[in-house]
Amino acid sequence: MTEKARLTFLGTGTSQGVPIIGCRCEVCTSDDLRDKRFRASVLVEYCGLNILVDAGPDFRSQMLRAGVSHLDAILLTHNHRDHTGGLDDTRSLNYIDSRATEIFCEESVLHDLETAYPYAFAEPKYPGAPVWNIHLIGQDPFTVPPDNGKKLVWTHDVGYGYEGADGSVIPCGTLIEKAPTSGEGAPVIPIRGYHDKMPVLGFRFGDIAYITDMSLLPDGEMVKLQGLEHVTLNTVGYRKHHSHFSLDEALELAGKIGARHTWLTHLSHTFPRHSKFTEDLSKLCAERGIRSEVRPAWDGLIIE
Ligand SMILES: [Zn+2]
Ligand SMILES: [Zn+2]
Ligand SMILES: [Zn+2]
Repeated sequence: MTEKARLTFLGTGTSQGVPIIGCRCEVCTSDDLRDKRFRASVLVEYCGLNILVDAGPDFRSQMLRAGVSHLDAILLTHNHRDHTGGLDDTRSLNYIDSRATEIFCEESVLHDLETAYPYAFAEPKYPGAPVWNIHLIGQDPFTVPPDNGKKLVWTHDVGYGYEGADGSVIPCGTLIEKAPTSGEGAPVIPIRGYHDKMPVLGFRFGDIAYITDMSLLPDGEMVKLQGLEHVTLNTVGYRKHHSHFSLDEALELAGKIGARHTWLTHLSHTFPRHSKFTEDLSKLCAERGIRSEVRPAWDGLIIE
């Protein structure tokens, strides 16, 4: 029997979030909590593991709001700040969980992280800097392994480290290795797409696939999206956009993928308020004969 995944939307907003600072439009001033959107991120509970996809600037608030105190892994779709800008706050999880944060990303994303967070890669490391183990992924399926049991200790002089045989604390550097492709844990299928010209990854967990920040999904990837219960697709507006699907493109793709449910995410304030947008989408799908039920996602929505 294949495992069922459970996905919680922690953020469904575009790069500026909704409401946008200073904007007085009817969406940004809506009282409906479903119109308040943190930056795009999801928590996936799968094969007994807590897997986060992306950690943008709202990461801290998202963890607190969802009551998350333990993560087995963070998967990164690409390196834009609205998806990686909160990674420094993994320090809290290092402390509370006594373990390094296991980050899965492509090599190009790792290079950008080294520039954005040099102190996390420095040797010796500044005491208290976040502890990350980086697992490199590409287009091949990979496995998120369970806790390796290596407990971090924290001391004032060294910061985070591992306890040596003689009881001393050995500071830990950032470990960089290839993600395992088999073994115990959660099997994940990466899906290659493009965000303008930037390569990004979506991820499939059982019969749920999470896709965000794409403007192109090559036909060759469609085989990985067969038989889905749920798929998420990003769209930021009605008009053609250089790095995101327009609403028309997202609807066309929803029909092509044919998942039972399609959830739109990375939404901007250019769409109507949540309730109106939901009605509009069901009319559009009926008119166009789209066989997937397409709805806007909202922060806090759980699908399984
Ligand atoms: Zn984004
Ligand atoms: Zn607005
Ligand atoms: Zn992006």
